[in-house]
Amino acid sequence: MKRFLAMKIYAVFGDPIEHSLSPPMQNAAFKALGLNACYHSFKVSRSRLSEAILGAEAMGFGGLNLTIPLKEEALKFVRPDETAAAMGAVNTVAFGDEIKGYNTDGIGAQRALEDAGAKISDKRILIIGAGGAAKSIAYQLARSGGLMTIANRDKKKARKLAQRINGQGFGLEDLERLVPEAEMLINATSVGMKDGDPRLIDPSLLRRDQFVFDVVYNRNTELLKDANEIGAKTLDGASMLVHQGACAIEIWTGLKAPKRVMENALRKELDK
Ligand code: NDP
Repeated sequence: MKRFLAMKIYAVFGDPIEHSLSPPMQNAAFKALGLNACYHSFKVSRSRLSEAILGAEAMGFGGLNLTIPLKEEALKFVRPDETAAAMGAVNTVAFGDEIKGYNTDGIGAQRALEDAGAKISDKRILIIGAGGAAKSIAYQLARSGGLMTIANRDKKKARKLAQRINGQGFGLEDLERLVPEAEMLINATSVGMKDGDPRLIDPSLLRRDQFVFDVVYNRNTELLKDANEIGAKTLDGASMLVHQGACAIEIWTGLKAPKRVMENALRKELDK
């Protein structure tokens, strides 16, 4: 009973949230660290976010992750650090003297890429997409010296993001020219999450010496299959998910997150 009362609760808020893979991954990390803590998912709508964050703080929660559609809304209710403010989105909340907001998606992507042996500085990097994931990754990789190009279905969004990171923005109709010029390609759209999704990149445009990263983590996408087929180096989104979750644990606890344990727990869920 005593152990139960002393347990720290962590959570991910989002809507929809049913399919979040964060609980098994983060619970595996807490167990490996020997912490008396547990991690749950809660369905929270955008209009109730303020109450949910304040309620979690009042109940002594250890920290929060936020996912779609709450990351931008959260800026109204937390004090963002420099990175979250610059990215315009919060995915991690920590409680202390004040309620602080962080964004670990960008650094999660960078660490996943570095772990996979990818170089970022001075590399010509093409990101497809200009939504939440694309913004965080673009900001982080630009900060690490990547030469950034953004292509998005909504061209205006691509141009706006590119302007903020000193890159160039285009529509998807330019991919035929942009793909062969890139040294690293990143799919940061939701295309590929579902079986039968269309290909955004014609496989004949890919080169063997390119590094191809797909942020989608729930399945082996057509883009990754195409790139693997020609022998290009590839990375799926699971590794980014592990690294962004690990950064959140480090912010909350100050302890080094057990990434291997987290990745095993995540891949076990994905295999189900
Ligand atoms: P957003 O809704 O913020 O952005 C979606 C992006 O996908 C936009 O650029 C949108 O273009 C584009 N898009 C959607 N449908 C199409 C289509 N049919 N054709 C072309 N482009 C399309 O979502 P997020 O950025 O939050 O998420 C994007 C992906 O990243 C998801 O698969 C998500 O699971 C994944 N993700 C992975 C993480 C990880 O750790 N691996 C972390 C966070 C997200 P437009 O602007 O024109 O609408």
